[in-house]
This record gives sequence, structure tokens and C-alpha cells, in this order.
Amino acid sequence: MTTRRELLQTAAAVPLAALQRGPDAAGVTALHDSSFDPWIEVSAERLRQNIATISKRVGNRPILAVIKNNGYGLGVENVARVLEPLEAVAGFAVVKLHEAMALRDARVVKPVLLLGPFDPAAELRGMVARGVMPIVYTPIGDAIDRVSKDLQRPVMLHVCVDTGIGRVGVPYRQAPALIKDLAARKSVVIAGTMMTFTEDPAFDPEQLRRFDTLTHDLTVGGVKLGRRHAASSFALFQRPDAFLDMVRPGMAIYGIYSEPAFRTAGIMDLRPAVSLKARVAYVKRLEAGDSAGYERAYRTDKPVWLATLPVGHADGLPRSAASGGRVRIGGALYPIVASISASHTIVEIGDEPRVAIGDVATVFNAEEGSRPEDLAAASKASVYDLTMHLHADLPRRLV
Ligand SMILES: *Cc1c(COP(=O)(O)O)cnc(C)c1O
Repeated sequence: MTTRRELLQTAAAVPLAALQRGPDAAGVTALHDSSFDPWIEVSAERLRQNIATISKRVGNRPILAVIKNNGYGLGVENVARVLEPLEAVAGFAVVKLHEAMALRDARVVKPVLLLGPFDPAAELRGMVARGVMPIVYTPIGDAIDRVSKDLQRPVMLHVCVDTGIGRVGVPYRQAPALIKDLAARKSVVIAGTMMTFTEDPAFDPEQLRRFDTLTHDLTVGGVKLGRRHAASSFALFQRPDAFLDMVRPGMAIYGIYSEPAFRTAGIMDLRPAVSLKARVAYVKRLEAGDSAGYERAYRTDKPVWLATLPVGHADGLPRSAASGGRVRIGGALYPIVASISASHTIVEIGDEPRVAIGDVATVFNAEEGSRPEDLAAASKASVYDLTMHLHADLPRRLV
């Protein structure tokens, strides 16, 4: 018999980093191909298709691909590698500085815009040295001068204007002074000027008017603003007047409709580029009166077959998916029952044992009925929560 200590030593022999990097890491391919652990599949072809669809929708304007938060869960480097060769993709936007640096470490060469904060004294120089553009909305011209002098090159940046969302961005009333100050410096190249919509259809037009007035007046005054951009996925559907010089979508690239109404609107045919899968860990028959799950959340008054999947809320599956979510196994959809625990999900198979241990279970993929939007709707969760909460440690397989 193998002792617990021996088991632990065997496990330790497989480098953790290799396990986390997935099937292309040397030596662990076989382990992953038969793995019961949940994994994520990323379809390069669908990412490319979605970019083509968006490009057509926006009249071939450049696309600044938002790949923040680990590429919306798909893996930031995976997504960047697939999108970088596409002509339609002008560059990438992320929120966290470590993610911007990770892209450069991964030899991504297209422009990278940091949407998040940074320390002008401690971090700006390192960013600029690696070609990461900041967004600027505070008077940091002097810090930019120093970095530019130090590196012997101008600092490319985008100015972020707040036209009403009330988070980062220079308030539009104070924007002319800040932008003129920046534009007057030899150290600065304004590569872009941006705003973010509140996505309140009643207020978005007013935000756009504020932005248009500001950028028009500055341009007439001889200020070069670079590419003006405002449109996230929402505006791709709602506001062609906001496509401006460049669009800035995230969710649409991953093939997911951010609003249920967009799915049937016939404006863009998006195909999910991400799937979450695991293998059935166990199949069992319950008798009348038996129960399943903590606190006996599920009870049956007749014999029924249940399957257990080794995926749970610790992997990013919302607990609320237990009230209405369905999982695809062997082509059929089965309801999730009981409650979702950290690492287990229980699925009701019915009166016959139609599935077997080792069968692949698809929590979501591109098929109608099991799209991420379907699971999100059943879970009363946002699709943003569904993909961005996928645990960073899950193996990502580019297919
Ligand atoms: C996340 C983000 C986007 C992309 O939003 P989607 O709704 O995913 O298209 C665009 N701009 C900014 C500033 C963002 O933070």
C-alpha cells in the first residue's frame, strides 16, 4: 500500500509550474489529456472570427483589444498571441501594470495601453522603457518630462477624460487646461484621447456631446489628440456615432453578448471563444428518500442517477448556477442540482445511467443552450462575472 507520504512525494515530482502551464509544458501532456481536473479551452479561430465581425461592424476602424483581467479569463498571453498578427488589432489595453509587463515578457510587440493607475515617480520610467503607454488624467507633466529626458525619447500616452462616469479621467470641464499643458510639452506625444460611457442609453448621447465639443474645440485650436476612442462592446451595438477613430471592446472579442437583447438583435454574430470543461468524476444511483449535497439541498422521492463533476465555486463557477444552470454531457443538457461547493457540482442525469465516469462535461461552450450567456442567465449572474472569475490556475488549452 502507498503511504500518504509516498503519494505526496510522487505528486511533488511533477513541477507545479509545469502543471499550471498546461498540456504544452514538457512531460505533462499525458497527465492533462486524461485529467479529471477542470480546464478551459480557448478557440483561436473564434477569436479571429469575432475580430473580423467587429471590424466589419465598425467600418474597419482600428480595434484596441481590451484583454484586462487575464484576458477576461481566457489567459492574457493566449489572447494576445492570437490577436497580435491580425491587422485589425491596433494594440492591447489592460488594467494592471503586471499584466502590461507580462505582455512584453511574452514578446507581444503591438502598443499596450495601461488603463489602470501607476506611480509617476516609481513606475512610469520602467513602463515607458518597455513601450507601455499610460493613460493620463492628472497634472503629471513634470514627471513625464523627467522620464522623457532620462530615456531620450518622447512619452506616448492617452488622455482619459471623464464625461460623466465619475471614476478615473480628468473631468471634462477641466480637460482643456490639462490637455493643453501636456500638448505643449516636447516630452509628450498624445497618441489617443478617450472616454468611457456609463451605458445608460439616456445619458450616453450627452456624454458623447461633451466629448465631441471638447475634442473639436481642442483640434480647432491646433492640439493633436491622437486617436479618439470611447466604444466598448455596448457601444458597438448601440452607438455607431461613438466609433470615432478607434473602438475599445472587450467582451465582444470573446464572442459573448454583454446584454441579452444584443443576442437577438442581428447586429453582430458573435461566437463564444471560451469553454469550461471537466470530466465526470462519479456516477451513482440514489434511491427514493436519499439526498445529495450539503444540508441535503437535493432530495429525491424516486430512484435517480446523479453525476458528480470535479468543478466548483473555487474554480469560478458561480454558486447560483445550482438554481437553473445546465451542463452538457454527451450532447444532452442536464440540470445542476443541490448546491455548488468549492470543488464539486452535482448533475441530475435521470432514471437511466446515461453518462459514465470520465465523460467530458461542458459547463459552457459555443453551443446554443450552453453558451456562457445561457449559464449566466440561469445563474442570474453577469457574463463578466462568469468569465473573469475563472480561476487563474485552471489550465488553458488553445484549440
Ligand atoms: C473593460 C473596459 C472596456 C471593455 O469593455 P467591454 O464591455 O468588455 O467591451 C473598455 N474600456 C474600458 C475603460 C474598460 O475598462
